[in-house]
Amino acid sequence: MSVGTSFLNQVNQAFDHAASFTNYDPTLLANIKASKNLFYTSFPIKRDDGSIEVMHAWRAEHSHHKLPCKGGIRYADNVDADEVQALAALMTYKCALVDVPFGGAKGGIRLNPKKYSVEELERITRRYVFELVRKNFMGPGLDVPAPDVGTGPREMAWIVDTYTQLRPGELDALGCVTAKPVSAGGIRGRTEATGRGVFYGTQEICRVAEDMKALGLSTGIEGKRVVVQGLGNVGYFAAKFFQEAGAILVGLSESEGAISNPKGLDLAKVMTHRMERKGLLNFPGGTNLPRREDALELDCDILIPAALERQITAENAPRVKAKIVVEAANGPTTPEADDMLGRRGVMVVPDAYINAGGVTVSYFEWVKNLGHVRFGRMQKRYEQAAYTRLLQSVENVTGRRFSTEQIAEATQGADEEDLVNSGLEETMIEAYHPIREVWKKEAGKLDMRTAAMIVAIDKVALSYEQLGIFP
Ligand code: NAD
Repeated sequence: MSVGTSFLNQVNQAFDHAASFTNYDPTLLANIKASKNLFYTSFPIKRDDGSIEVMHAWRAEHSHHKLPCKGGIRYADNVDADEVQALAALMTYKCALVDVPFGGAKGGIRLNPKKYSVEELERITRRYVFELVRKNFMGPGLDVPAPDVGTGPREMAWIVDTYTQLRPGELDALGCVTAKPVSAGGIRGRTEATGRGVFYGTQEICRVAEDMKALGLSTGIEGKRVVVQGLGNVGYFAAKFFQEAGAILVGLSESEGAISNPKGLDLAKVMTHRMERKGLLNFPGGTNLPRREDALELDCDILIPAALERQITAENAPRVKAKIVVEAANGPTTPEADDMLGRRGVMVVPDAYINAGGVTVSYFEWVKNLGHVRFGRMQKRYEQAAYTRLLQSVENVTGRRFSTEQIAEATQGADEEDLVNSGLEETMIEAYHPIREVWKKEAGKLDMRTAAMIVAIDKVALSYEQLGIFP
């Protein structure tokens, strides 16, 4: 990527634009914007055929205003210093928006995972962890990775295993990485967390009557016509929660193509069809669209790009018919497209806020690891007994009996997943209103993305101001 158009420059330009609406000292702003640490390493690995290959890997820590740092590890062909620094900066702002007490980080190895065997990927991952640990770029109190493009729970399990081998006896070692499998110290609800967060955030946005009226929409999710691009981890779960809440999925797209039905597509049936036929197309309850990109231009109320960056561009933005674009993916709207949508009155809900559910639940996982106890374990039975006593008192006072089903429903204690989902819902709701307040205060001058960046800058600036400068 050339310097002029680099991803990092793009992120920094967005920062500068938002910063111009604040009154902070320019040196404080410069300090917030600057990436604090950048680690690069190269190391050899042995391929299965006995040959040796040199790998290139990075880890960027953007901010230390809260510790540990937090951010995913990406395995992709185009990973470089610029990209990890840009993504690390975005993580700082994302964490600040949802009050997750971490600084932003991101790491990556330049490789296409499809070109390596599982054994090779394991050797690469373990060696990368070794390099991070010996340079103090990883640890439950230093820097806590998570999955990103090209990595998942399998890699996180290798990471936690390598870390614990390198740090024998370290009590909080399980907190060195998040999104682990549950059996390796992970948390229930992490897999669906980002899609669920997208749903909770959008639900809150759709509750505000004034904003819905301005868009010509009614409040609530029920009956809203929704299009989802990408049915991977984020898109699938987002689509599932929207449909469960009564939204009508009028269009779905995947890499092989797109389908639509103005009356609604049944997600479960679509997924079964896709598995059996190895593709979305020719689904009996839908119509194939000529090109997969056409899904973005379908008549709908809410468009959820949940696949890749740079999907809504200056070329197709004028034809986007949605009233709300919900950025479930990272960076799905180019800056030019963003301007065009804004001018047409389309509400663009920025990625930094709406897809923060994953890092939020990662934070819960880290807390669980440091606490060494599963959420709900201490209180679930206690709550059940307390609710049962309460119902019995009501029965005694009223002389009427609840049905077995009513008792079972009302006396459920919360287990880990209930608590995670409840904490996620609370986080997404609480995080939205400060953004909306700034957005509305500067009505007409700001888009929601800039408002979110201003809120993030406020929070990070407050931390830096209170911490002062060492020495
Ligand atoms: P994923 O790989 O599970 O899913 C992406 C899906 O999009 C895949 O099924 C892929 O086939 C499909 N796709 C690719 N190109 C497409 C195209 N042109 N049109 C339609 N579909 C296409 O990845 P994911 O974890 O769901 O992440 C999706 C996006 O969300 C990425 O931008 C990622 O950075 C972002 N994100 C993910 C998380 C998370 O917790 N997984 C958190 C925050 C942000």
